[in-house]
Amino acid sequence: MAIDISADFNPNRLTGPAFAGEDEGEASLRPQTLGEYIGQEKAKGNLQVFIEAARRRKEPLDHVLLHGPPGLGKTSLASIIANEMGVSIRKTSGPAIEKPRDLAALLTNLNDSDILFIDEIHRLNRAVEEILYPAMEDNEIDIIIGQGPSASSIRLELKRFTLVGATTRSGQLSAPLRDRFGVILKLELYGAEELRQIIERSARLLGIKIDAGGAEEIARRSRGTPRIANRLLKRVRDFAEVCADGVITKTVADAALTRLEIDGYGLDSVDRRLLASIILNYGGGPVGLDTLAATVNEETVTIEDMYEPFLLQQGFLSRTPRGRCATKLAYEHLGLKYCSGTEGEQLRLDT
Ligand code: ADP
Repeated sequence: MAIDISADFNPNRLTGPAFAGEDEGEASLRPQTLGEYIGQEKAKGNLQVFIEAARRRKEPLDHVLLHGPPGLGKTSLASIIANEMGVSIRKTSGPAIEKPRDLAALLTNLNDSDILFIDEIHRLNRAVEEILYPAMEDNEIDIIIGQGPSASSIRLELKRFTLVGATTRSGQLSAPLRDRFGVILKLELYGAEELRQIIERSARLLGIKIDAGGAEEIARRSRGTPRIANRLLKRVRDFAEVCADGVITKTVADAALTRLEIDGYGLDSVDRRLLASIILNYGGGPVGLDTLAATVNEETVTIEDMYEPFLLQQGFLSRTPRGRCATKLAYEHLGLKYCSGTEGEQLRLDT
């Protein structure tokens, strides 16, 4: 079996969880209420209690930090919080707020109890972040007027607000910022049954004909990520309309996803190359993340955020203190012989 591990990675791959051009229409699929938000029972259950308590006290919700891999529903959850609290939401992202005054403008324009949503909050620059501390704690900010010796600082009172921050890398958040969030919720990859429900809901909204077998097949191959499930649903619909009678069945979904090079486990060619590289170049591991990233010509953060979570969840990869290892399942999946205890040193290609 020949595995080409030299081919370039494609960040816009069909099964990449990051927002891509073809997800433009996803706003219409976003759940609007906690009732419509499928899965994430633990995070949802806790949030429900906090929202209800804040509503009864007629106070804004405490600041909320949502973390987890891309495409799992953090932005959706932020809008749902606003809907459930009956307040407005203002959305921005860490890299979009360049200067302290940009943040000051956003904060001073909020109405009482409004929500400010900052996506990729770990990418806020230090000067901007420091404005956030007194804003989150005491609803006030200090702004500098003028320049040089005549510069003076004035204190501005803000209306009460809730900051909802989202991040794929909570470890990169500074401790002072992290400590100022009263509610920290971690979103996990979805199970196949939850994804099936998400796919059936999206199909209803988009007028796509799909049966239970078709929805299950797409769910199983969606990397635990609703954004990918919705994307695959749209691509499989194209196959169903052109190559079949318009209905997505298990057979149609299987044929379409195979043509899109997404295998029965939901791995695409990029995942397979990543695993093959660990096995063929590093005897199955352990290999440090930085070394692995350099070998496959990718950024370390991309491997960590986009590829690893699903490979770990599915048991193809294990994380050890000395680095990443390919598991027995990975060897078997790639048709390579696994010799236990030697982490692949006696690797032989099955021919
Ligand atoms: P993130 O902000 O974590 O990258 P989004 O909130 O943008 O993710 O979610 C991407 C898409 O996935 C949404 O447009 C929505 O259609 C779908 N989605 C995410 N979570 C859920 C869910 N729990 N139930 C139904 N659809 C969901």
